[in-house]
Amino acid sequence: MTRYVGLLGYPLGHSLSPTFQQAAFNHCGLDLRYDLWETPLDDLEVALERARGRQYVGLNVTIPYKESIMPLLDERDSLARRVGAVNTVVNNNGRLVGYNTDAEGFMLSLLMQAGFSVRGKRVVVLGAGGASRAISYALASSEIRSLTIINRTLERAQDIVDALPATSAAVKALPWDKERMAEAISGCNLLVNATAVGMKHSATEGQSPVEAALIPRRILVYDLVYNPSETPLLAAAKQAGAYTQGGLGMLVYQGASAFELWTDRDAPVEIMFEAAQRGLT
Ligand code: NAP
Repeated sequence: MTRYVGLLGYPLGHSLSPTFQQAAFNHCGLDLRYDLWETPLDDLEVALERARGRQYVGLNVTIPYKESIMPLLDERDSLARRVGAVNTVVNNNGRLVGYNTDAEGFMLSLLMQAGFSVRGKRVVVLGAGGASRAISYALASSEIRSLTIINRTLERAQDIVDALPATSAAVKALPWDKERMAEAISGCNLLVNATAVGMKHSATEGQSPVEAALIPRRILVYDLVYNPSETPLLAAAKQAGAYTQGGLGMLVYQGASAFELWTDRDAPVEIMFEAAQRGLT
């Protein structure tokens, strides 16, 4: 019997997940199909009821449901509860269990692709949406020296700061103010863009959240945006003499963790990377 995994979100637009997850299922000889479940809010509960059926293995969850889906699930694993967001759901005999693999995906990409250890580092994160929440949680749990979250809507950054686990790092929220942003960035080792700014096909396509003149040399600039692969921020960072890493690796690593939760077997990460890269180009 063919079984299914669904990507739950609204609107879905173009997603790479079906491409690289299906490549992984096929490579492993699994009779699984990855489908798009574009679901308006009014249909969310019906979609979750459907996901409890025997033919459904689980879900990926994307904008705008990563946080709002939590109370509708039967269980949430401890990391998802602590992060406050779910991006992966497993159908465990009719019980829907929520997980967060974004945090792990980001940390794996930092380490495996950029060779960057966060221990003792000063980190600036731009943005305070669901993705920022996951990576800020992971960073604050990893012996960093400081974390500054900068967001257009200051309250959202402050909410994340207030929800972080106890840490010896200096943690603060700042408004999207050029002078204060410049000061925070001037002393950091790692700058992460977790806003949607610069995304292809968006209103901010072609824009960088930070200009090259503000980026110190030899820091690492990580852009969660993965389309285009060289975002305006990464181009500015290169111009400034910084190291760069795009978000495709985080996408693939979070997907690999989700694959392992659904199938209980090792993910073919290389195959997933190749398929994602092909899908992007
Ligand atoms: P979200 O919850 O909708 O949050 C969007 C964030 O972007 C908010 O902080 C928002 O600020 C900020 N923002 C939007 N437009 C802006 C602008 N013009 N100027 C300044 N800030 C702006 O989205 P999300 O789920 O956190 O995702 C954020 C980005 O990360 C997206 O590009 C997404 O594709 C990417 N992402 C990548 C991965 C990966 O695996 N690589 C995983 C998850 C997400 P306000 O709070 O003020 O609105």
